[in-house]
Amino acid sequence: MPTCEICGSNQTEFFHKIENYSYYQCHNCTALFLHPRPPLQILTKYYRSDFEYTAGEANEEQNRLRAGKILAKLKEFNSRGRKLLDIGSGFGYFLDEANNLNFRVSGVEPAKKIYKTAINLRLKTKVKNLSFEKYYERYKSQTFDFITLTHLIEHIPYPHDFITKVLDLLNPGGILYIETPNLNSRLFKAEKTNYTFLTPPDHIWLFSLASLKFLFKKIKRVEILRASSYSQPEHLMGILKTKLKNTGHGSKNNSNRPSTPSLPMSGYRRGFQNVKYLFFDKLLAPLFTPWLNIGGYGSILELYIRKS
Ligand SMILES: [Zn+2]
Repeated sequence: MPTCEICGSNQTEFFHKIENYSYYQCHNCTALFLHPRPPLQILTKYYRSDFEYTAGEANEEQNRLRAGKILAKLKEFNSRGRKLLDIGSGFGYFLDEANNLNFRVSGVEPAKKIYKTAINLRLKTKVKNLSFEKYYERYKSQTFDFITLTHLIEHIPYPHDFITKVLDLLNPGGILYIETPNLNSRLFKAEKTNYTFLTPPDHIWLFSLASLKFLFKKIKRVEILRASSYSQPEHLMGILKTKLKNTGHGSKNNSNRPSTPSLPMSGYRRGFQNVKYLFFDKLLAPLFTPWLNIGGYGSILELYIRKS
């Protein structure tokens, strides 16, 4: 069995295979990981050419609202800080919100298709279309008061090396924010091998708070200031679907990545969408989504970490 890079244990077990990709789980730190990991050159090429992220664009309003909350917390933990780097800055909504709040923003977005969106073009002198490795080589002398990694660390083949480099770019007393799927969640417990976030080759690592603590214990230099979790209505939908199907082996559930319908909807389908909207989005989701978070078992993990 492969060794877990996060905690060094070889108490790992095969978990699930999707196409040619195999996931293993570590019994010691609970991390779930892709093995073998795709080579870095292949991943770089994949992000340069093929990678798209439709859900990110569809959820602009939600992402901007969340950005405001994250930025307020960052200020609370480091009130004098101004310089912010968002690695994997996507469509640029987070950077745009930060820019509006007078943060001095920089971003790195390796995916070409995503980089070419309107906001990124508007912020173009501030966002670099580079892989993190290239960015680090060229700009490592520039340091920041805040670094944000939103839905990024799960894509990184060697998280330990990556986080070590990221911390090099952070000033002492600076804050690192990490947001990533939470393996210790009601969503994972319900979906298991159909887990929404088992998406190879994008997602190489899936973490719980326990596994991230192992990672940061190795790195030292840091203190976890706050760890919490949250969920989105589509995660509740994912759990309901799994419960209704009552099977762990259905078709792949991509409920967190809705594709934009490209054809006009039929009347029947529109009717269904309206019922779904009223019943689910307006009634069920606001009532039950907060329930997913009780006890720290929300679908997405959020960490605020201070560099000493
Ligand atoms: Zn482990």
